[in-house]
Amino acid sequence: MAETDWGAVDAYIGEKLLSRDAALDGALEANRAAGLPSIDVSPLQGKFLHVLARIAGARRILEIGTLGGYSTLWLARALPEGGRVVTLEFLADHAEVARKNLAAAGVAEKVDLRVGAALDLLPVLQAEGEQFDFVFIDADKENNAAYLQWALKLARVGATVIVDNVVRKGAIVDPADRSPTVEGTRRFFDAASAEKRWTATALQTVGAKGWDGFAIGVVEAAR
Ligand code: SAM
Repeated sequence: MAETDWGAVDAYIGEKLLSRDAALDGALEANRAAGLPSIDVSPLQGKFLHVLARIAGARRILEIGTLGGYSTLWLARALPEGGRVVTLEFLADHAEVARKNLAAAGVAEKVDLRVGAALDLLPVLQAEGEQFDFVFIDADKENNAAYLQWALKLARVGATVIVDNVVRKGAIVDPADRSPTVEGTRRFFDAASAEKRWTATALQTVGAKGWDGFAIGVVEAAR
């Protein structure tokens, strides 16, 4: 099947399984209007994260990479009463758009949005004694190996850790591709393959966002 059909199939599934949603659609529209890059998860992927967080029964969620808060909103809606998403965003202008989107969606009180480099903010969460049930890593791919290590420090045993964009149109197996994001993804897989505290797999995905993939795993006790 041609690559151009992937979007059509996503549209078909979306017609069947997604409803019109003013807050989610409005967030994407606000992101576009503010000039944010269109690198949020797709609607079906957002719902995938939502369903996974519900299956995991997550009460405390960590997201690394907020952008305009589209995936944050899907995750916030998965929370039970009293649950919380902590989301980390480097760029103040992205965070500003996200704050507005999350407020407009009525989930601002469920979201703790922190601005700064994730590698500076993660030790703060550790010092605060945070422990998460579900971690979604979707920021600068160069640091994914380090984010995995932080996720394992901050997540409880049995938690879910999911990492976006780990296939990169297949570039991870193209030896000629030495771009920082692809090299970062390879370092992530090297770290994951050596990691005894994370039982993981990765799945390739196609769809409205092209060819990419998620890595997903469960946090194990240190051995
Ligand atoms: N998760 C979002 C969604 O699906 O709606 C998309 C996140 S986007 C792919 C990545 C975001 O990570 C960008 O907004 C970018 O500014 C942010 N980012 C990049 N480097 C970062 C860093 N070192 N620390 C925190 N955020 C970072």
